[in-house]
Amino acid sequence: MSEVTVQQLAETVGIPVDRLLLQLDEAGLAVSGPNAKISDEDKAHLLKHLRHEDVETDASAPKKITLKRKTVSELKQAGGGTKAKTISVEVRKRRTYVKRSVAVAEEKAVLDSKIAEGDRRRSEEETRLSQEEMARRQALEEKKRAEEEAAAARRAIEEAAQTKGTETVAAQPVAVDAAVKEAAKDKKGKKRGRGGREEGGEVYASRHNKMDRQELHVSADKVGRRKKKAPARAMAGRVVAAATQHGFQKPTQPVTHEVALPETLTVAELAQKMSVKAAEVIKVMMKMGTMVTINQVIDQETAAIVVEEMGHKPKMLREDALETEALTSSASTGEFLPRAPVVTIMGHVDHGKTSLLDYIRRAKVAAGEAGGITQHIGAYHVETPRGMVTFLDTPGHAAFTAMRARGAKVTDIVILVVAADDGVMPQTIEAVQHAKAAGVPLIVAVNKVDKPEAQPDRVKQELVGHHVVPEEWGGDTMFVSVSAKTGEGVERLLESILLQAEVMELKARREGEASGVVIESSLDKGRGAVATVLVQSGVLRKGDILLVGKEYGRVRALFDENGHPVDEAGPSIPVQVLGLSGTPDAGDNAAVIAEERKAREIALFRQGKFRDVKLAKQQASKLENVFSQMEEGKINTLNILVKADVQGSAEALRDSLSKLSTDEVRVKIIASGVGGITESDVNLAMASNAIIIGFNVRADNAAKRLSQENGVDLNYYSIIYEVIDQVKQAMSGMLSPEIREEIIGLAEVRDVFRSPKFGAIAGCLVVEGTVKRSNPIRVLRDNVVIYQGELESLRRFKDDVSEVKAGTECGIGVKDYNDVKPGDQIEVFERVVVKKTIQ
Ligand code: GDP
Ligand code: MG
Repeated sequence: MSEVTVQQLAETVGIPVDRLLLQLDEAGLAVSGPNAKISDEDKAHLLKHLRHEDVETDASAPKKITLKRKTVSELKQAGGGTKAKTISVEVRKRRTYVKRSVAVAEEKAVLDSKIAEGDRRRSEEETRLSQEEMARRQALEEKKRAEEEAAAARRAIEEAAQTKGTETVAAQPVAVDAAVKEAAKDKKGKKRGRGGREEGGEVYASRHNKMDRQELHVSADKVGRRKKKAPARAMAGRVVAAATQHGFQKPTQPVTHEVALPETLTVAELAQKMSVKAAEVIKVMMKMGTMVTINQVIDQETAAIVVEEMGHKPKMLREDALETEALTSSASTGEFLPRAPVVTIMGHVDHGKTSLLDYIRRAKVAAGEAGGITQHIGAYHVETPRGMVTFLDTPGHAAFTAMRARGAKVTDIVILVVAADDGVMPQTIEAVQHAKAAGVPLIVAVNKVDKPEAQPDRVKQELVGHHVVPEEWGGDTMFVSVSAKTGEGVERLLESILLQAEVMELKARREGEASGVVIESSLDKGRGAVATVLVQSGVLRKGDILLVGKEYGRVRALFDENGHPVDEAGPSIPVQVLGLSGTPDAGDNAAVIAEERKAREIALFRQGKFRDVKLAKQQASKLENVFSQMEEGKINTLNILVKADVQGSAEALRDSLSKLSTDEVRVKIIASGVGGITESDVNLAMASNAIIIGFNVRADNAAKRLSQENGVDLNYYSIIYEVIDQVKQAMSGMLSPEIREEIIGLAEVRDVFRSPKFGAIAGCLVVEGTVKRSNPIRVLRDNVVIYQGELESLRRFKDDVSEVKAGTECGIGVKDYNDVKPGDQIEVFERVVVKKTIQ
């Protein structure tokens, strides 16, 4: 048995020389230094000492021992199909023994083997020693071994990370795998009393977190691979690792989405955009103090707050971004060329609008038609020797203004039909007002001149009173005498229209993709949605993708006003379009879009936009906002629509209000009239951004509904001075606290009884709010105030009551008024002080 030096033994065993010296010293073996020889007896003695002595008390005993094993092997890998690469893989394993008893046991084991095989060459010894030791441990401490190996691998990784780039290190994939699994186990918090290892686990875990912070799904192997930024040899390790590993790592940090928000969306849609359950969104909104349901539509701003609250980034989509993009990319091209004028016929009822349209159509359109069958498509065009004229077939100012209220400008010229035997009537005046509000020139057709009682000059005189002055009297309005019955003057009327059109220099582009306006639409059995579109620019062709309001579709067929199929339609030509997804509204814009997908997207977007939200936020038609809008320079004309109970009041208001004009703001009465406020009035106010003033008149039901839907204020007054004062104050931005009348109840008179005690008793049904005995009342007939006073009595059956709620019948006696009739309305109001705030 050969002797070895202390140093050799230390190297073989893998412990520092100093420690070995110390141990030898403790065992009572006097050695001079690292080069002193140690005999087998000495080794046996040392071993004995280590075995039997109380190692725990040994202060200098190691806290941990690390064993290393290094193997180098070669790996053949097919590279790119041409030649095989040979890659050297160096594997290092380290084992760290931390616990004292374990450490000691290992030391003993090492020494045992060392002693047993002392005469072998050291290199051989080292390898075999490790292998033997490993084999033994596998047999004895299978579980422990696995744990140790994991710890070792972990350390290897750490070391590699620390020395990245300087050392070529590739951890054996299996070891890494084991390490990851072990680390996971450790993280579960098993207390094993091995501080060192647990610490190692933590180091690993924290690094782990840091590494995948930006990632959603990071597989475990990726983490391992990321540890090393190493050249070629390590790459091979990565390849192998990648091939053998699968993994899913739960995100450790919330993922931030950029959430695109349209103008409005439902809670469910918002949740989907953030990839969370709708319940989450509802919960968050509840915490913010808003109770919502899953299908509730919320606006962009609310949604943005929710998105931020949930840790994402909101991105506001401009309402029309998509549309603007699609619509600007597809536009008509070419030079501007003259186009036919588009004409609307207006006038009082029975003055001959329909007859005139029919005459022109019969004479011009249906001429030469077999059987003369013409189809009503809402518009038609006629050819005259001097040019083409397009007529809109929906006479009346109501349709005209309803379209305009939707933002469609279709009509170029208005033909005002006035019957020569009847003269100017209320709807004649309204028509004038609507045309003027729209800024559309008028041509007056004095109709029924075939009648003996016709007085065309009287019509002229009456119209001058409404600022419609004939050319021959120095004005700018053409008057043409016609007869829809005999056809007299119709040619001249057409000529006048073309003359006016020439003055207006109406032009349009005739090339490129078409755009236009819907005149009318219907759902046809068999043909589906049918829409009449007036082309305004470009050329509409069969096969085009048409976006119309909320609908879209490929144009399947086009028909002209005679029901003949056509292939295309240019500016000022009305055509029936087949192939749309649904029926659009009159006044909707139509535009050809290059891609069907885009058209569908925009249509769907519009459907969503219009679905649940009041789209019109017409702040301009509120008295409160007049001043702020003036300040912002948004308005320099304050438009007012006046409706009054009598002509005198209407005129007085018109004059007084017009006089309120200042240098900054002109007060313009766009319309004034007598009678209740109608749907057409509300449309006109909307189209002209006008404030509605009702003086001793009320809105009818249709007007009420329309005004509510569109947020148009109805301002009711009963004292002229109050109206003037209010408008004045609104303009100066000093709306003082106002005593305002609030209508708290409305009852409809169903029947009238005579009572000897109370006089006329109105049997009523309360239709709105509450009728209160003590409040002032007004009696309305046809939405006009006919009496103001108070109640004499309020009864339910035989009992006097103080109030009656909506849906209930009651008997009402009006003090000092016995002229109530069935159909009248009794309005109960209250004077309240309203503090007006200027926004
Ligand atoms: P609208 O309400 O304005 O559409 O008026 P209509 O076209 O329905 O005409 C009302 C009535 O006036 C009908 O009985 C027509 O026959 C008659 N009428 C229309 N134009 C003329 C005309 O030029 N001369 C005569 N004598 N009667 C006419
Ligand atoms: Mg008619």
